Amino acid sequence: MVTRAKVAIIGAGLAGAACARALSRAGFSVTLLEAADQPATGASGNPIGILHPLISKDHNLASQWVEIGMATTLRWLSELSDVARAQGIGTLGESCGVLQMNADASELVSWAPEGAWIKPARFVQACLADAAAHGAELVFGARAVAVDAQGEVSIHSRGGESHAQRFDAVVICNAADIHRLLPDAQLMLNSIRGTVSSYALPMERSLPTVICASGYATPVVEGEMVVGASYERIESDFDHEPDDSAQFRGQDVMEGVDEGDALSNLDRLHVISPSLAEICADLMPADRTSIRSATLDRMPHVGRVLDWTKPLAPSVSQIHQMPRCERLWVLGGLGSRGLSSAPLGAEVIAAQIAGQPAPISSRLLAAVDPTRFALRRHQRRK
Ligand SMILES: Cc1cc2nc3c(=O)[nH]c(=O)nc-3n(C[C@H](O)[C@H](O)[C@H](O)COP(=O)(O)OP(=O)(O)OC[C@H]3O[C@@H](n4cnc5c(N)ncnc54)[C@H](O)[C@@H]3O)c2cc1C
Repeated sequence: MVTRAKVAIIGAGLAGAACARALSRAGFSVTLLEAADQPATGASGNPIGILHPLISKDHNLASQWVEIGMATTLRWLSELSDVARAQGIGTLGESCGVLQMNADASELVSWAPEGAWIKPARFVQACLADAAAHGAELVFGARAVAVDAQGEVSIHSRGGESHAQRFDAVVICNAADIHRLLPDAQLMLNSIRGTVSSYALPMERSLPTVICASGYATPVVEGEMVVGASYERIESDFDHEPDDSAQFRGQDVMEGVDEGDALSNLDRLHVISPSLAEICADLMPADRTSIRSATLDRMPHVGRVLDWTKPLAPSVSQIHQMPRCERLWVLGGLGSRGLSSAPLGAEVIAAQIAGQPAPISSRLLAAVDPTRFALRRHQRRK
């Protein structure tokens, strides 16, 4: 595809903002469409998030993705710091180190000195400012209500008007609402509610690093410490297919953060630091609840979408044989790892749309390929 091709990006959270930056810098003519009146109103609007490794016994593909993703995000943090300063956005984040304990904090699992806290909404703002400086058009109050395989996007605007616009490529980054635009793409997404709690604390009470156990707690940043996060599945696009979903579960991943538990954030803090939890028990936290969109194998969706109109021939057995929509890409299912997945995912998609080699191995590309669940289902049915 030639550069200056017109690319629409749907959604202005971490995924959409990262794509806007990567694609506008790659020379594409970018239009970002966001339903809300401002960016980062979804999960990407949390006060502080953490950037930390994913430890697995065998350094599996999920761990490899997060490792490369973290390095990419840290590079972006450094590249964007001038933009943030010039725009008065404030500090985007800092590598303070992340201490990973086991679930009851009795044993050290790992220490990641490069691990960081990041303010996701500011990161989004900085990406969008950089994208705008590279010619991207940012349209707020514009909800994409339908997308067809030829790249036509139907848009409802805040004022009540509707129109359709044709693009050379469309990158769909609207998280939990992806299934509304791509109901037949077999992306197998869960919606998972989560709450983070912010406590106003003086600097002298600050943890020296981020600490993760059954939850996580950050150092005090600009007067607040953030503790997270609950993890409650509320909806999925495969609720009626229990046999299918079971097939995709279970990579050998030590998440550190036990996402299935029902602890409150104060209980999570108590595991990490009983003395801080005692202080916080007398404070009124500011809670923020939002929705994560996650796949069953916990890997994101990065790449070109399945062409659901084409039947799969029995001979199809490999990911590169899967039929795809020429003009539709997706960056979604970022789960609890939006900060490490969004910049890397955006760079992969920018390379793919430009027809350049992706910056990751073909095995990793296959692991995040948006057609992987359709292929697995096809293989089981043979
Ligand atoms: C409680 C909690 C704690 C978390 N902690 C961490 C953490 O510590 N570290 C980490 O890396 N990640 C963390 N995450 C995950 C991270 O926040 C997400 O992975 C990330 O924000 C997802 O970004 P996104 O752009 O895909 O989605 P979102 O931020 O949800 O953005 C989607 C955007 O699309 C827009 N949109 C929706 N539909 C349409 C439409 N039809 N047309 C136009 N626009 C539309 C929405 O308005 C929204 O702005 C956490 C998530 C939660 C819920």
